[in-house]
Amino acid sequence: MTSITNIPLCEPLLYGREWRYVKECLDTNWVSSVGRFVGRFESAVAGFTGTKYGVATSSGTAALHVALQVVGVRPDDEVLVPTLTFIAPVNAIRYLDAWPVFMDADPEFWQMDVRQVERFLVQGCRVKGKELRNRKTGRRVSALLPVHILGHPVDMAPLCKLARRYGLKVVEDATESLGALYRGRSVGHLGDIACFSFNGNKIITTGGGGMIVTDRKRWADESHYLTTQAKDDPLEYVHNQIGYNYRLTNIQAAVGCAQMEVLKSYIRRKRSIADGYRKGLHDVRGLTLMREAEWAKSTDWLFTVLINKRLYGMDSRELMRRLAASGIQTRPLWRPIHMNLPYRSILHDKLPVSARLYREALSLPSSTGLSETDQDRVISKIRELAR
Ligand SMILES: *Cc1c(COP(=O)(O)O)cnc(C)c1O
Repeated sequence: MTSITNIPLCEPLLYGREWRYVKECLDTNWVSSVGRFVGRFESAVAGFTGTKYGVATSSGTAALHVALQVVGVRPDDEVLVPTLTFIAPVNAIRYLDAWPVFMDADPEFWQMDVRQVERFLVQGCRVKGKELRNRKTGRRVSALLPVHILGHPVDMAPLCKLARRYGLKVVEDATESLGALYRGRSVGHLGDIACFSFNGNKIITTGGGGMIVTDRKRWADESHYLTTQAKDDPLEYVHNQIGYNYRLTNIQAAVGCAQMEVLKSYIRRKRSIADGYRKGLHDVRGLTLMREAEWAKSTDWLFTVLINKRLYGMDSRELMRRLAASGIQTRPLWRPIHMNLPYRSILHDKLPVSARLYREALSLPSSTGLSETDQDRVISKIRELAR
């Protein structure tokens, strides 16, 4: 039997100063959520994105929960969010007893469809007093939650314009796209507040963790307060609000500091992996490769292709199984959230693009550490299996 190495979808790469910084935490006993690496990590991420403040959290999901709360999303409000996303941002809306309004993906770049957002705000809502209300449900619409999926930014300028016109807050879910640029500006600095994730599969990792970034001191302070159990006195146990235990530990932040030092080279590597796939697969019939908008610089977090069953000769799931048999891990995109049990009863407009992308998409191995030999193996196998 020949033994071939398995090629994973997206695994972390830890080869810099992680070991040294973590050792420093252990040697000095600063292992918990106070310690010099937490503040340093917050400054590094905020500085990198061009925002003034960073607040580290235990996960990207925790960051989203708190960010939505501090911008003023209240129970029974509605928040616009794409249906084609990982489920975390939608759950975060529900943690606050608010409701998602699902938006489709745009067919070109697969991000939240800004034209559908406009149609909903203009035709589906009415202004009542100073508030915007959904005509069908009567609920207040208070925020937009664009998700920059797969490393590529959402078309933010028209979205922010709509937000200003209707007095809505913009919370960016930038968890998959740290380092991506929109018209030369960093994601995380395009709306009112933004969230990042440092889960193991993201472009950089702390094992698990997240961050809120914003230019508004009041929101940063409140985020810090809510994520550290809402302590109103440093000594006495005085709490004037219900807080959360959502802080990142110094050990995790130490890993994060080391990862931030290599982020730029990781982005370059991801982009060159995407180039490799484009060169190797552009002429395969039945494949549509992920594109980059002319106004965007993607980090190519997970390179994704669409498979047309008729032209390629098999569908995305069959290709996934055939590649798996050769030790190559691939994965479909997320099942659109409105099709998942907790969200099936929520009213929504037609969302056909998301449903099609869900059927046809497959993400290819995109680890920062993917070798050229391994990428060539993926490309050859996909070419070989084509009709
Ligand atoms: C990973 C991810 C999150 C959540 O981050 P965690 O750190 O895993 O909680 C949120 N939104 C999207 C779009 C993600 O991909």
